[in-house]
Amino acid sequence: MKIGIDFDRVLFNTDKFNELYSNSIDGLHHVENPRPTKHGVYCPEMHAELCGIDPEQIWSFFKKHRLEEFLFDDVKKLEDVHHDLVIVTRGNQKFQRMKLENTGILEKVDDYVIVQEEDKDVADIDILIDDREKELERADIPGILFNRPEEDLESILEKVKKFEA
Ligand SMILES: [Mg+2]
Repeated sequence: MKIGIDFDRVLFNTDKFNELYSNSIDGLHHVENPRPTKHGVYCPEMHAELCGIDPEQIWSFFKKHRLEEFLFDDVKKLEDVHHDLVIVTRGNQKFQRMKLENTGILEKVDDYVIVQEEDKDVADIDILIDDREKELERADIPGILFNRPEEDLESILEKVKKFEA
């Protein structure tokens, strides 16, 4: 079985990360109108442009910060999973890749896919674990909703067992 698992707010404490991100880059501030998005996802280059800063400032943020501390503690449970694991995350290619690489999470999974406009039924996954109901509805495969902090990875992996065999 091949399991697709979301990254933001599932494996990674995105809200805590966003605080560091928005407070660490000089001149980067919240922009509401127009929203810095492209293909429906956050676009760091556009955000930088709207703030009048060099996008390099954003990429150098990732050179300065390792992001392991933003992984939820229970991601170590992934080591007990005897299925193929693919991170399926939605967002800007480079921005998501930087986040994934800097957390070290890629050593714990078999593969990753970054989607933008398409649904998350990719890479031949059999089920999808995600914190957004909308993602599960869009992907035409069985899904498990992951609501932190009510649930943790252990309880989600229990639910995965129902799909085994
Ligand atoms: Mg998510």
